[in-house]
Formats: sequence, structure tokens, C-alpha cells
Amino acid sequence: MITLKEALKLSKEELENFKNDLKAKIEARPELNAYIDVLNMGEGVPIAIKDNIQVRDWSITSGSNILQGYIAPYNATVIEKMMASGLSPFGRTNMDEFAMGSTTESSFYGKTLNPHANDRVPGGSSGGSAAAVGAGLAIAALGSDTGGSIRQPAAFCGIVGMKPTYGRVSRYGLGAYASSLDQIGPMTQNVEDAAILYDIISGSDDKDSTNAKMDDKVTPNLNPDRKLKIAVLPKYIENASKDVKDAYAKATQALKDAGHEIVEKELMDAKYDISAYYITATAEATTNLARFDGIRYGNRKIGKDLNDTFVKTRSEGLGDEVKRRILLGNFVLSSGYYDAYYVKAQKVRHLIKDEYAKIFETVDLILSPVAPSVANKFGEFSNPMEMYLSDIYTISVNLAGLPAIALPISKSEDGMPIGLQLIAKAYDEQTLFDGALSLEKQINYASQA
Ligand code: GLN
Repeated sequence: MITLKEALKLSKEELENFKNDLKAKIEARPELNAYIDVLNMGEGVPIAIKDNIQVRDWSITSGSNILQGYIAPYNATVIEKMMASGLSPFGRTNMDEFAMGSTTESSFYGKTLNPHANDRVPGGSSGGSAAAVGAGLAIAALGSDTGGSIRQPAAFCGIVGMKPTYGRVSRYGLGAYASSLDQIGPMTQNVEDAAILYDIISGSDDKDSTNAKMDDKVTPNLNPDRKLKIAVLPKYIENASKDVKDAYAKATQALKDAGHEIVEKELMDAKYDISAYYITATAEATTNLARFDGIRYGNRKIGKDLNDTFVKTRSEGLGDEVKRRILLGNFVLSSGYYDAYYVKAQKVRHLIKDEYAKIFETVDLILSPVAPSVANKFGEFSNPMEMYLSDIYTISVNLAGLPAIALPISKSEDGMPIGLQLIAKAYDEQTLFDGALSLEKQINYASQA
């Protein structure tokens, strides 16, 4: 597959031919179920879009039954920015319902397969975007990351996935899951493409009140030769599988070989991240999803009175994982429990943020696992808690609002990709991309069998 950088240089005619080939390739792999729909590719370089980002006149459903039939009345800001730079949205990629999940199994449209092993999940919630890029069915894609949903599927499918600093990329037109954590970001074949797409979609937007209103760009200054100070976390990675630990050792060595200084640091036990995240995310999700009641939004199921209409609409329209989170979110916000759970979680969130800030006083980047293991097999989690625990290495980055990038490092014995992530201080995407480029170059994943 050609890269985004190459695609941007194609002539009109070459691009037309490329698009026809791409369509044929996608049609030849229906079993992957990476795309919900392949739509008109428009004029520009085609970029795949997660089903929770609004594209005018498209049916956008966040992978949910309740939004069947909804047609987006406007473009998300990221879509406007893409179109202004010669890119065009072309296909809706599969996802966990309302981005809640780590496997893409909770989609109304059925599961997506991992292109590297069809009995394994592609990760989630942006599993469709990751599988599309990983299988050579997209040049690049957009995903959204609330607690790892760009980075974890990227790691599972052997591609690059980047979560920007909170506020860097406008959330206008993104189907909200947990508004204080959500960010849209690029999912690409390599680090440079991620930087190109990041530059295109990031920047000021008056339509998002949490937007950082910063317009600096990374690509003009990309420099893989900068020597950086990078923290490794020997104790924090203890819960990872042997495969992941081996990849971590390999990446650490590669960073040393590339001339970076490695220092050992520690983060607090990741079990606190899980608790703080699942309280915060479900509380916000409960509030955000209240609008899907069949009156304001959502496919209406008429009941015998208004209350019954709400109940029927939500009972039939929402899946089990979403209902579980709405219950949990209502619980942690309810009057007897608000202080014990929600307020406590906000305090822990602060501690996590402070902890990162302390580390970044003395280092430029942190090297971390993305997931504790390679992509799991379908049905491997016997209960939701096991799935939640698999988010240990991604969610603290969202709680602290930091930028991070996952990139492929090595493969397990059975050929599954293993990705790791670099994390930078808030708004320091430049150093993040510089370090990632250097690591990518030194590792040379593409040359590994
Ligand atoms: N797996 C996490 C969750 O289920 C993160 C999902 C996401 O980033 N959208 O909440």
C-alpha cells in the first residue's frame, strides 16, 4: 500500500486508478468486516473514518442500533480540515458500540477480524480503522481514543496510532463517549504519515470550547536525530506478558543504540488508573448518552406512554456493554455515592497527572507497553472486568491528557504484532514524533519476517 506521503503526490489520474484498485481490494476481503460501508471516495486522497465522526450526509451510527437511520447534518471539524488539505473521507470503519470496548466485538455490525490472525480481535474500539490499515485496505484512518482506542488496536494490528494532547484536535462532530478524555487521532502505516495526518486535523476550532487553540505544526521540524532523555519503567511493566517484556527490552536497546539517554522511573500501580478511569468514563458516558431517548436522538420505539417509550427505545437500541456502563455511571453519580466514587476518582486523576508531570521535569519521553499482551482470541475474556483490566497501560495517558504514539516493535512467536508507546508531556507532539521516528528507524519493523 502506498503511504499517505506518496498518495498526496499522485496525479489526478493516478489517484483515480488507485481508488479503483482500493475498492476492489476492500471488496475482496468482506470477512474482515473492517468497513461498515464504503462510500463515494470523493476527489481527494481517501482516508477511512471511524463510525463516530460526522461526515455530512453519511449515516453515522457509533456502531449502535439506536442510531440506525441517523444522517449526519454537518461535518466534524477534522473532516473539514481534511478536505481543505486534499483528503477525502471515504469509508465508515467498524467500532465498539459508542467506543466502549477493547475488542470491536460490541459493534451492532458484528465483529471485525484481526488481519494477522482471523481468530483474534483487532483490538478496540477503533478496531475497524486498525484492521483496514493493517490489512492494506486503507492508506490511513481516523480513530478516537478515550482510554486507548487508537493505540491498542494499532498495536494489535501492527500499525501506528497516535493520541494527541487533550484539546489539540477539535472534538466538534465526534460522537461523545467521555468528553474529558476523548481525542480524535491518526492511524497510519508509519510515523511520518501519522505526523502528516496529525498536522492536518489538529489546530484551533471555535466550535469546541475545550480546544487548545494552538496551530503549531510538527512536520516542518521533524528530526529523528535529536538526542532525547527517555524514561523506562521496570516495575510498571511487570504485569505484561513475556512477549511484551521482550519487545520492551528490544525497544529500550534500540533507543540506546540510537544515542538516547535511558533513565529508570516508576509510575503508581496501574490498578488505580483502572478504577479512576472506569468511574470517570462511565459517569461522563451516562450523561452524554442520555440524549439517545427516542425523542431527542435515536431510533424511537413507541411505548404505551412517554416513559415506556424511553424504556423501549433504550432497551432495544443499546447493547449490553453500553447498558452496563450507563448503570455504572448512574451509580457513581448518585447522591449517596458521588463523593465516595466520582469525587475520589477525580482526586486520583489529579495524582496521576501530577505523577507524570514530575517525571517530565527530568525526561523528554516515557516508553510504555500499550497492552499487557498481544491481541487476544475472540471470546477470551470471560467477564467484562477482564476486558477492563487489559486497559492498564493506555488509560492513564487519557486521564492526564497527554499525547502518546503506539508503533510496532516486534512480533510474538506466533506472528502477532507487538506495539509499544512513547508518551510526551502535554503539547509536546514535536518531541513525541521526533522520538517515534528515531525508534521506528532503529527498529525497522518492516524488515522483520
Ligand atoms: N477500552 C476502553 C473502554 O472501553 C477505551 C475505549 C476508548 O478509548 N474509546 O472504555
